[in-house]
Amino acid sequence: MEDKTEQAVYEALPALLLPWYAENARDLPWRHSREPYRVWVSEIMLQQTRVEAVIGYYNRFMAAFPTIYALAEAEESRVLKLWEGLGYYSRARNLQKTAKQIVDDFDGVFPDTAEALEKLPGIGAYTAGAIASICFECPSAAVDGNVLRIMARITADDSPIDLPATKRKIGAALEKVYPKGRCGAFTQALMELGACVCTPKSPGCTACPVQTLCAAHRENAVQSFPVKLPKAKKRVEERTVFLLRCGGETAICRREETGLLAGLWQFPNCAGALTVEEAVRWAEEHGVQPVGLFRSVHRTHIFTHIRWEMIGYLLDCAAKSADFVWAGREALTEAYALPTAFRMFLEDI
Ligand code: SF4
Repeated sequence: MEDKTEQAVYEALPALLLPWYAENARDLPWRHSREPYRVWVSEIMLQQTRVEAVIGYYNRFMAAFPTIYALAEAEESRVLKLWEGLGYYSRARNLQKTAKQIVDDFDGVFPDTAEALEKLPGIGAYTAGAIASICFECPSAAVDGNVLRIMARITADDSPIDLPATKRKIGAALEKVYPKGRCGAFTQALMELGACVCTPKSPGCTACPVQTLCAAHRENAVQSFPVKLPKAKKRVEERTVFLLRCGGETAICRREETGLLAGLWQFPNCAGALTVEEAVRWAEEHGVQPVGLFRSVHRTHIFTHIRWEMIGYLLDCAAKSADFVWAGREALTEAYALPTAFRMFLEDI
């Protein structure tokens, strides 16, 4: 195929993508309705999280909070509990904050433009574009990593996709070709192509509906796109986690209200990798009278910028210090929102 100008490539996209999407769209629970509340919750859950992992969370969340009013009125602890394991907990808090604002300021009705949506807490340009196009048929692009990767490959664009200017350029070019009356389908078709065909590591070019347009494929250079800026190295933090057991219950405490995993529950822990002797002394100083080390375990948890290397000491104790809340197995799994970094120790207790 002869080379097309970049604009012509963008213009040709909807005609190729929309019929493919109509045939191949996966049946996902949030696609059963264009109700903004449902689309919004799904988009927030899908940030940084795989579709397969989100489906169960989404269905449970919708069963618990079927309307924006139900979410606005819910106890925060219940919202966090239903989010447990999805990570990035500020998303759950912002979700509820936004629900309250929409109920208080907009009578429970979502604003219907990307510009107005973006003014709400926790709704960035991507989510605003997704809601505006899918629910209100606005020609507003939803540009995430998937869309950046697809467009960088199709146009063999070597601008680093981490740069805001690249995102703006691709978003503006897409918005010029959003098809009237099919805006929601076009946004979802791009998302679907990125999730199912033009994947990061092994794109399925032979079955790709836009293969005839794709410069990276034509130049046999698919793996050279997208171009990214070099990644900053993750900081490694060592932590010691205390799994203190007494009378069938385990000690937990709440994290600070600000910072990483703010306000969530955790097993008591401290910075650094303590030796067994140091860990026993720490437990004595916290009044739990350790009587024996049951075992020690190593666990690693990776956040966006930090890697926690954790050593957990499972200590049997003779006293329930008031420094902690003491919870039985069922309460630990059912009642308290423990982030994954700590939940991974549950199997050791
Ligand atoms: S042809 Fe390959 S690289 Fe190009 S858009 Fe399709 S899947 Fe992606």
